[in-house]
Amino acid sequence: MRNYINESALKVVFLGGVGEIGKNMTAFEYEDEIIIVDCGTTFPSADLPGIDLVIPDITYLLANKDKVKGIVLTHGHEDHIGGLPYILKDLNVPVYGSKLTLSLVDAKLREQKVEGVALNVVKSKGSVELGKYFKVEFVRVSHSIAGSYALAITTPLGVIFHTGDFKVDFTPIDGNVIDLKRISEIGSKGVLLMLAESTNIERAGSSLSEARVGESFAHIFNENQDRRIFIATFASNIHRLQQIIDVAKKHKRKVAFAGRSMVNIVELATRIGELKLDKNMVVDIDLIKNVEDKNLVIITTGSQGEPMSALTRIANGEFDKIQIGYNDTVIISATPIPGNERMVYNVINNLYRHGAKVIYESLNEIHASGHACQEEVKLIHSLICPKFFIPVHGERRHLQKHAELAMKMGMLSSQIILADIGSKVEVTKTSIRLGESVPSGCLLVDGLGVGDVGSSVLRDRKHLSEDGLFVAVIGVNSLNGEVFGIDITSRGFMYTKEESEKIVEEAKEVLKIALSKIDLKAVGDWGSVKNTVRKELKNLFIKRTKRDPLIIPVILEN
Ligand SMILES: [Zn+2]
Ligand SMILES: [Zn+2]
Repeated sequence: MRNYINESALKVVFLGGVGEIGKNMTAFEYEDEIIIVDCGTTFPSADLPGIDLVIPDITYLLANKDKVKGIVLTHGHEDHIGGLPYILKDLNVPVYGSKLTLSLVDAKLREQKVEGVALNVVKSKGSVELGKYFKVEFVRVSHSIAGSYALAITTPLGVIFHTGDFKVDFTPIDGNVIDLKRISEIGSKGVLLMLAESTNIERAGSSLSEARVGESFAHIFNENQDRRIFIATFASNIHRLQQIIDVAKKHKRKVAFAGRSMVNIVELATRIGELKLDKNMVVDIDLIKNVEDKNLVIITTGSQGEPMSALTRIANGEFDKIQIGYNDTVIISATPIPGNERMVYNVINNLYRHGAKVIYESLNEIHASGHACQEEVKLIHSLICPKFFIPVHGERRHLQKHAELAMKMGMLSSQIILADIGSKVEVTKTSIRLGESVPSGCLLVDGLGVGDVGSSVLRDRKHLSEDGLFVAVIGVNSLNGEVFGIDITSRGFMYTKEESEKIVEEAKEVLKIALSKIDLKAVGDWGSVKNTVRKELKNLFIKRTKRDPLIIPVILEN
């Protein structure tokens, strides 16, 4: 009989979520079987204009399609489930997760019209067998979305513990405390490898309990009895919504919801019983004029200052159903994600301009992070006590700091691997090492197209957004080679019409002269003529304006 335990290593393949915070996706491979943990997206950075989403490259999984037994989800945040509709189109395998996670996935699949996917709800402490080698147990953890799990994956070589995104909250809103007892049992039986999140590794101490946020809300409601109250928060933070609803109820205020994702998630979470909301308390956003300020709370999206969100539009005076004014108190119950600060402060400035009172400092304890700080991370390390460790869910600096923390707690550097996207880590019962890397990277989603936007398209978009566009249409008589017309159109290039007209006239002159030097009758390939047009115009624009617009020459033959 073959003894695969001696001959095979377990492979951990990172397709996203290391060296970045976003698009988490990890594959665990043993012989002819693979299971996948999470399948997320990242929101594009400013250097990817016009791109809606970024998802992991799954070339490696498609090449090993027959091995894949299923996808296991830790929780329902976008950076863990957002890529599923796109990836399930090519890789239709069963999906496992909590009730809330899969309800969110189901809504996404419907929106993208992906059909025939098996979604299997697993309760906490529940486990599923995937193929002959993998058994996955789901362990409840605290996080900023309900239904979050850590995973204990039993393999032929030992147990892998994956923390998912977690914090340790002893006073959670739904009463379901992180299952430290089970985590400790798993640890005491022996864990071969731990993957643990690193988001807040730079923060000392422990994260704030979600319950403390509720206490702050109660305080703010008391101080603002006669005013209308707005609260902006992440729609998916159902426990935060629950606390707002509870304090509103105490103060006999009605609640209205603004923003599409807020309305959708409230509907979904109420339907599956995750959110307790008395229907009589809800007032439609169209009817809030009938409710006195002191009897109303408006819960809205836009805590990150997102341009199209309800709060941003309200602050800009572009939301026709709500006018903000002197009797309004706006609570922004979130901290800006790095990179969003400018947008958030713009919204705050605009709210102040309309006379509103804005509460946004972290000092007010109006937000609690969903991620473990150093002391919580240490607790998990000491309970699990793994033989090997890979820090995940962090930029390189977070992973590095997390490795240093593990070493302070007694691990050796030879027991820890820092992975990159594309890393394949090979683990045996006695060793861990980086193997050959696999094809990896990111796929860009532009509207409905996945991966069809190449780097040249992006270069053009960036170019366009910065320096504008020039189209030069040149009419050539194909019989005698004469130029019978030059038409130039520009967009986003010059500030005023006069400036623009002036440079267009000059451009026509330059082209006339340049083209008169070419025997257009004898030209076999218009490519060289187009290059001349580009070169001449580029020189002119740089000389006159120091700018470099995108130039598109079009030759019309007749
Ligand atoms: Zn999360
Ligand atoms: Zn995450």
